[in-house]
Amino acid sequence: MSGQEQDYIQKAFDSNWIAPLGPNVDAFEKEIAKYVGASGAVGVSSGTAAIHLALLLLDVKKGDRIFCSSLTFVASANPILYQGAEPVFIDSEPETWNMSPPALRRALEDADRQNNLPKAVIIVNLYGQVAKMKELLELCDEYEVPVIEDAAESLGSSYFGKRSGNFGKYSIFSFNGNKIITTSGGGMLVSNHEDDLKKARFFATQAKDPALHYQHSQMGYNYRLSNILAGMGRAQVEVLNQRVSQRRKVFSYYQQKLGGLSGIEFMPELKNTFSNRWLSVLTVDPEVISIPQIINELEKENIEARPVWKPLHLQPLFEGKHFYSHGEEGMSVSEKLFNNGICLPSGSNLTQYDQDKVISCVKRCLLTVSAVNR
Ligand SMILES: *Cc1c(COP(=O)(O)O)cnc(C)c1O
Repeated sequence: MSGQEQDYIQKAFDSNWIAPLGPNVDAFEKEIAKYVGASGAVGVSSGTAAIHLALLLLDVKKGDRIFCSSLTFVASANPILYQGAEPVFIDSEPETWNMSPPALRRALEDADRQNNLPKAVIIVNLYGQVAKMKELLELCDEYEVPVIEDAAESLGSSYFGKRSGNFGKYSIFSFNGNKIITTSGGGMLVSNHEDDLKKARFFATQAKDPALHYQHSQMGYNYRLSNILAGMGRAQVEVLNQRVSQRRKVFSYYQQKLGGLSGIEFMPELKNTFSNRWLSVLTVDPEVISIPQIINELEKENIEARPVWKPLHLQPLFEGKHFYSHGEEGMSVSEKLFNNGICLPSGSNLTQYDQDKVISCVKRCLLTVSAVNR
């Protein structure tokens, strides 16, 4: 927390704007939209709800197809299932770990041939790194397929000078507890289409028709953000840039201390992009050490680390769904990253003392195994 959150929350209490909505929500929406350079935003209860609203705005229905990055958190794709639509998963490419343009091209060509283009492409910006938007947006434009930018992990990042959260027809953010700024729980739908944002507000407040009485002609949802939580969000926006530099500092310290070890590679940062480095992620050479080995060693020291997201095309939930891989043969890029990738402790408040402990533990693991292998 920044320390200013309670001021905003107190103001909400003093003015009795507890629920529903209120001035903190309005201001928080404007602040986020301004930050990313978009014309407007709708504050909602979660990032997942924001993705769901984006699909509703695109009129996604049963049987429709949605293309989605495979290497991501399940929340990117769950709303596809809410709508009874069919996800098709697209592999990563090695330079950003995000959606592969050649894989997307093949998927779009096939879909076009079958006269079955997707209703949307959900492009995820993994761990803060923005995807290869130029190539991906060009392809989506060519086939006139709208893009939903899942920027849940990339608030504060930019691509060729443009901030993440303004690349899709709709972009979404999450303010869940683990994200770079948080409202404890919350999300935002961002767009330059004012009419659509109005419609999103309608769907997010039980689709109440304009009438004196309670009148409903469409199915709606209860997805709006509380004025109390939006107060937290406003205080968090004030420290967003500071959080980004803290996270980048954590990343570069790891890189400086561990980058020289053989068998370790850090998540790249594409030229002309700026990652918020939400999490510090690296891959190891599987011939040297395995991810479970490192995670177990860290756990012995009470240090929590996690593998990279398990690709959605490998999840039992999505068994049998179509998948387009980056290369024509061999293991997919996303599966390789999953097998060999680890997210190290990356909190904005990580002390150098604690970070040094993580670093020496990882070093010890590598030195031990390389001694054994010798
Ligand atoms: C966190 C996250 C979401 C979902 O956000 P919630 O606010 O937790 O619903 C969606 N996509 C990605 C990539 C995320 O990391």
